[in-house]
This record gives sequence, C-alpha cells and structure tokens, in this order.
Amino acid sequence: MTRRMTNAAVEGFFAALELSNPEPEGELDWSSPFTLLVAVVLSAQATDVGVNKATRRLFPIADTPQKMLALGEEGVRDCIKTIGLFNAKAKNVIALSAKLIEEHGGEVPRDRADLEALPGVGRKTANVVLNIAFGEPTIAVDTHLFRLANRTGMASGKTPLAVEQALLKRVPAHYMQHVHHWLILHGRYICKARKPECWRCVARAFCNYPDKTPSVS
Ligand code: SF4
Repeated sequence: MTRRMTNAAVEGFFAALELSNPEPEGELDWSSPFTLLVAVVLSAQATDVGVNKATRRLFPIADTPQKMLALGEEGVRDCIKTIGLFNAKAKNVIALSAKLIEEHGGEVPRDRADLEALPGVGRKTANVVLNIAFGEPTIAVDTHLFRLANRTGMASGKTPLAVEQALLKRVPAHYMQHVHHWLILHGRYICKARKPECWRCVARAFCNYPDKTPSVS
C-alpha cells in the first residue's frame, strides 16, 4: 500500500502540475452549460474523442433543451449511435431536456440536488458541471482520479465518494478549481493504469507510489 503523502507533498504535486499546465482544459467540446451537461451524460463508458464526434453531429442542430426536444429521441439516437449505450443515453437526453424546461425555465441549475435529480445525471456528472460550467470547487472522481489519488498516496479510499471527500480535505483551496482537469489529464497521459510513465512525470518527486517505473534511458 502507498504511504500517505504529506501536506507539503500534496502542495508540491499540484505546484508541479500547475507549472507544466497553468490553465488545464478538458477534452470534451461544449459551448454552454447545457451542451456541457449533455456531453458529460454522453461520456459514460465512451471516450471524449468518440463523444466529440457524436456531438459534432448533434449540437449544430440541438444546442438547447427546446431544440433537443424538437429533434426527438430518434433524432438524438441517430446522431449519437456511434457511442456506447446510445439508446439509454438518447432517452436520458430527451428526458433531462424536458425536465429542464418544466422545472428550471430551460436553464441548467447551479445546484447539486437539482442536477442529480435529472435523468442520467449522477454525482460525478453534477460535479463536472458545477466545476467547469459554474466554477464551483467540486472534484469529479472518474477512473483516472480514483487510481491516481490511491496510487500516489494523495487521498486513499475504496469508493469514488471516499476519494472525493479525501481530496476535498487535502487539496489546498488555491488548486481546487483545476484539480479535476489536472488529475484527469495526468492520469490519461502520464500516470496510466497499466504502466505509469514515471520517468517523465513532473510530480514524481512528491509521489509515494512504491513501484514507480524506472527511467527508459
Ligand atoms: S511518479 Fe509515476 S505513479 Fe507517481 S504520479 Fe507520477 S506517473 Fe503516477
């Protein structure tokens, strides 16, 4: 098991990530809270690249809840049929659009409970929307964050919720806004699941993973 990182090491870890990428950005395409919400709902068990291909067909014709309803479930399904679980996702996108119109005047609510009450929206999706669309200091724990937090000793936990709560306690407030993107990008491209590329990791000095991969040189 990985030794717990000290507070100073957590600070150092994020300082290193910030230095290498001061303004990290996600890889999903979106242009409004509504299109972000839909893109995140579509991203379950799909790659960002795959979702972007689908939303390049969907968003030009339906970038508001009203237009989504007008397009209808079959129309949505046609646009997104290249991604996994497209049937259920088309149903959810239509249902959440209807609920946004009925209960929120067609706007995406800036409230966790309201977001989680939307069809197809769980805690992770609500966290992404609150953080990225509204600038709230929330942390959405996906597979990359879960692995990275446990592996490095930054925040251990057996469930995504446990890791989220541990991260919220440990990450200094001034890094909170970008934690989600920094850790997703770091997990996706450097601290990979099977073989982390520790030799080129900017935060290597602060990580306690006992099995760091050696330099390739
Ligand atoms: S040193 Fe290796 S295990 Fe630690 S964060 Fe970097 S890539 Fe991940």
